[in-house]
Amino acid sequence: MHTVLVTGGLGFIGSHTVIALNENGYEVIIADNLANSKMEVLNRLEIITGKRFKFYNVDCCDESALRVVFEENTIDSIIHFAGLKAVGESVVMPYEYYSNNINSMLTVIKLMREYKVNNLVFSSSATVYGMSEDVPFTEESPLGICTNPYGWTKWMIEQILRDCSKAYSDLKVILLRYFNPVGAHESGLIGEDPRGIPNNLFPYISKVATGSLERLTIHGGDYDTPDGTCLRDYIHVCDLADGHVKAINYMAKLESGVDVFNLGTGKGTSVIEAVKAFEKACGHEINNVIGPRRSGDLPVCYASTDKAERLLGFKASRTIEDMCESCWNWQSKNPNGLPEDN
Ligand code: NAD
Ligand code: UDP
Repeated sequence: MHTVLVTGGLGFIGSHTVIALNENGYEVIIADNLANSKMEVLNRLEIITGKRFKFYNVDCCDESALRVVFEENTIDSIIHFAGLKAVGESVVMPYEYYSNNINSMLTVIKLMREYKVNNLVFSSSATVYGMSEDVPFTEESPLGICTNPYGWTKWMIEQILRDCSKAYSDLKVILLRYFNPVGAHESGLIGEDPRGIPNNLFPYISKVATGSLERLTIHGGDYDTPDGTCLRDYIHVCDLADGHVKAINYMAKLESGVDVFNLGTGKGTSVIEAVKAFEKACGHEINNVIGPRRSGDLPVCYASTDKAERLLGFKASRTIEDMCESCWNWQSKNPNGLPEDN
């Protein structure tokens, strides 16, 4: 049995990926320090899959704590989701972002070398393409200048992994650049559960839909796009999870070195289109107003999906309507998110 260590496996994307790996016959071990997730996710995963996954409450920056995971298990591959991800927070807490995201990656690499674990999938982001307006982004598009510390951590970790794979000939790395993951598992038992007031569009719309936030402000209505609002490549988190399974499958074909794939749908959806689709899903209007532009926003961002389709055999199948319906199913069943851990 092929065992995958999923760091950050109780988080939004990690938890959905755990389900997909399990469905595809992989053995899963989860390591998460609960910095942005709750133990209840593990219970929910058990309800969904009928399986209690082996879980370690460890900080991936803590070498001696993480060593226990490598000591107690034979790990074949690692998917490294663990990291802090809030763009705005990273601007006011740069030290915490650089320290957590880079040290956790370095510690994982160190232990991978020591325990001869050679397969790594890393959660990167479309943010590494910077502010280029040359869409769609292909994997060959030049990396850009990031606009915040969070983006730079992804950019820097990609470089660290490229350097490591050149030096360590056994190491195989797949960088997955996600576009905008949204939606939730069809059960409505797990989904995105941000703390505080959300910054991202879908969590914000969801909170307006449940009535816990009054109104969505659309950041800018005067872009050079069909309806004046920004276009993004929203991808259903369950499609994204399947993309990780395909990446782990593809590892066997990769001799060594780094390969990189975009995970998106290849389609841009405007903020107004997203709001309309969500209104249809929840059955009522989403109170909104057009406000000023948000600094650092690209007018249009979507992926070229050719490479992932050709080499991974990955093609996202779920529509924006599916994303909104599943998001609403999760949000309406859990209007206050998951219960806090005791
Ligand atoms: P998330 O915050 O829901 O999940 C991350 C998980 O990692 C959390 O459970 C958190 O507790 C854990 N974690 C953080 N630091 C840790 C550490 N030092 N040790 C152990 N666990 C730690 O975020 P997500 O949306 O599931 O994102 C997963 C990964 O994908 C992140 O690396 C993120 O940067 C990346 N990513 C996310 C998006 C997005 O829009 N959600 C887009 C591109 C890339
Ligand atoms: N957005 C918005 N109002 C919000 C949050 C987001 O209009 O309260 C817009 C944002 O300007 C962008 C799109 O929704 O055009 C997606 O934003 P998000 O932060 O979710 O993703 P990102 O910009 O990082 O791709």
